[in-house]
Parts: sequence; structure tokens; C-alpha cells
Amino acid sequence: MYFDNTEIAFASQSDYALKKAYLLFKCMENPVLIRVGTALLNGALKWHLPVAGIVKKTVFQHFAAGADLADALQTVHKLARYRIRSVMDYAVEGQSDESGFERVFQATLSVIDFASANREIPFVVFKPSGFGPLALYRKISEGGQLSPVEAAEWECVVARWDQICRKARENHLTVMVDAEETWIQKAVDDLVFKMMKKYNRHHCAVCNTLQMYRKDRLAYLKARFEIAESAGFFIGYKVVRGAYMEREAARAAALGCENPIHLSKEATDRDYDAAVDFIVDHLDRISLFAGTHNERSCYLLKQKMQARGIAKDHHKVWFGQLYGMRDNISFELAHAGYNVAKYLPYGPWRDVVPYLIRRARENTSVKGQSSRELSLIRAELRRRRSIKNNSHV
Ligand SMILES: Cc1cc2nc3c(=O)[nH]c(=O)nc-3n(C[C@H](O)[C@H](O)[C@H](O)COP(=O)(O)OP(=O)(O)OC[C@H]3O[C@@H](n4cnc5c(N)ncnc54)[C@H](O)[C@@H]3O)c2cc1C
Repeated sequence: MYFDNTEIAFASQSDYALKKAYLLFKCMENPVLIRVGTALLNGALKWHLPVAGIVKKTVFQHFAAGADLADALQTVHKLARYRIRSVMDYAVEGQSDESGFERVFQATLSVIDFASANREIPFVVFKPSGFGPLALYRKISEGGQLSPVEAAEWECVVARWDQICRKARENHLTVMVDAEETWIQKAVDDLVFKMMKKYNRHHCAVCNTLQMYRKDRLAYLKARFEIAESAGFFIGYKVVRGAYMEREAARAAALGCENPIHLSKEATDRDYDAAVDFIVDHLDRISLFAGTHNERSCYLLKQKMQARGIAKDHHKVWFGQLYGMRDNISFELAHAGYNVAKYLPYGPWRDVVPYLIRRARENTSVKGQSSRELSLIRAELRRRRSIKNNSHV
């Protein structure tokens, strides 16, 4: 097993916090409980039932950094004590109108200001669907003709992206764009690439996401590298496996078209590691953020860096995990001197619920996720008990 030093992994956690986390992951191991819990939570929110206390003290406290930037800053400092940096993520999802998009946009601008005053925050992230309607991204991705109203709406979306990317460049930060479903992704990829061309002349201020469960992403990465290389600007990618597998399969089946996602986990793993290898071989042009909880992929990246004589803290190689998950990877890598950044979602708890539900579902559905967290916590509690017992002898 890789990354099993639980003393380092949980150095920042009290016994009480660990026991609470244990109970949380134990619940998330049970798919029925998660299904029923999610339905009850959605119902409670709709009927304005008093569930704030329980949500805040459980999933919110574990997976989110706080309700606002001031709250989140405490977590930023706590992680920084262990050499772990933060990716600020205003995790308010599911906006569907102009006032919602504007709110997410303004919050993202504020977080860039906040991050520029804090060296512990090198990255800010946003979701394309936070800045404009999904239907618009989809229509553009499908090559549809926009009406004058839609064209004006799209101009507004592009202006938001432009302002965010420019501000990131001016403040020497990197703004990462999350990837979502394939049917909106072409519009997103084209827009990010345009921003890269414009703002990545001196450093990687704009970074896209590659979902390696997609059959076409390795070829896409290589093609984008060729363009950037000949035009002389920098590119950067957060490399992930991909989070929307079920929805992609369901849509492909409904439309009777080919599923864009690899048909096996092995194929996804192979492409993931190949993309990481390709980037490491071209670090003069491409920056890497390896967003994964897969211990073997992190281990392989470490090995690759060592074999190529790349410094552990090379400014273009980052490992990334989500807050509240896989501290064994994050803390051990940071302790060893590698660059690590955790995604720190924050926002008013009610608005962060869709993000929290996705985390709970992922822990239930991704094979072995919760059981690995549980076995690590169990091992650490056992280790601490045995130290206490020995000190009493
Ligand atoms: C920092 C960070 C940022 C992220 N940002 C994004 C993002 O912007 N967009 C996004 O979509 N996801 C994002 N994710 C989630 C990510 O895509 C994965 O869903 C999640 O991390 C689990 O994959 P893994 O590499 O950690 O681990 P693993 O447990 O090794 O892999 C699980 C993943 O493998 C793939 N998989 C599983 N079974 C199969 C199968 N039968 N056939 C093909 N593939 C299969 C799926 O992608 C699944 O999620 C992010 C994750 C992290 C840690």
C-alpha cells in the first residue's frame, strides 16, 4: 500500500475529529442511507425544516471550509502549517438566472482579491455553469445558431470569463476551470483556450481540466500542446478521471450514440497516467495539477519526477485532493516536500448542499473510497490508543 503513514496523515486532527469523521464515512459506505438521506435533505430544504444544525456539524464541517472567506481563511492557515496550499472554490452550484451568475462571478472576483493578498492560495477555481446558462454552452458546443438575445447573453458570459482570467494574470495567480458534462465541454474548451492564448504569455494564469475517462482526451492534449508550442504561449491542465460517468452513459443510451467515456476503469487509468506522463515530459510548455485520490497515480507521478530529476517542489507540478478526503495522500506528499493544494469549497451552507451531496455520492459510488478512509482512520485511532496505553505502563 502507498501513503499509509497515518501519523502524518492525521497530524492536524484531534481524536474527537477523527471519531466524527469515522462515523461520517461509515454512513457514506451505505448507499441506501445516502439515497434516503439525500432525499430527506432535499425535502427538508424545500419545506424549510430546521436541518441547519445537523448539516453544518456533519458533512458541511467535514467537506467545506466555511460559510465565507473569513471562515475559510482559518482552514487555509491550518493547512499551510503542514505545507499544504489551498484552491479556493466558491461552491455555490445550480444557478439558473442572471442574478445567480452575477453573484458567483462577483464572489469569484472577490476571492481573487483575497488570494492575491495571501501566498497560501495559489489557485482559484470556477465552474463554467456558474457564469452562464448550461443551455447556451450546449447550443454553442453543438454548433447551433444563436438568436440575438442568446448572442448578447454569450457576450456577457465571455466578458465574465475575460475579467476573471485577466485579474488572475495581474495577480500572478492561476485560475482553474472545472470540467463538466461532455455536451457543454466544447464551448468551454474553446473559451479556455482563447483565454490561455491571451493571458498565458508569461505564466500559466489560466488552466483547464482534462477528464481522462473520455476516449478523446489524450489526443486532445497532444493537439493543444502542438498549437501552444508553435504559437509560444503556456498551457496548464488539471488532470482528473471524471465525475459524470453515469450521466454520460445514460445520455448516450438515450440518444443512441456512442458513449464518449472509456468502457473500462483500466482504460481510464491508462489514459490518466499517460496524460500525466506527457505533461511531465513537456513541463517547459505545460503545467500539471494532478487532481486525484488514486494512490497509485500519485505514486507513479512521484516516481516519474524522481526518474526525470524534477525537483519535488517544481513550480509546474502540483498534486491536488479535495478538502476532507484523502489526507493520507496530501499530508504525506506535502511532508515529503511536494507541492500539494487542497480544493477548499466554501459558501453559505444551503447553497453548498449540491456540492456536499456530490461528495457523499462519490464516496458511496467510487469503489473503495470510503473503506480506504475508514481503514486509515481506524489505524490511526489504534496507533494513538497504543501510545496512550504504553505511556501508562
Ligand atoms: C482536486 C480535484 C478536482 C476535481 N475536479 C474535477 C472536475 O473539474 N471535473 C470532473 O469531472 N471531476 C473532477 N474531480 C473528480 C474526479 O474526476 C474523480 O471523479 C474522482 O477524483 C475519483 O477519481 P480518482 O482519480 O480520484 O480515483 P479512482 O478511484 O482511481 O477513479 C475513479 C474514477 O475512475 C473512473 N471510472 C470508474 N469506473 C470506470 C469504468 N468502469 N470505466 C471507465 N472509467 C471508470 C471514473 O472517472 C471514476 O470517478 C476532481 C477531483 C479532485 C481530487
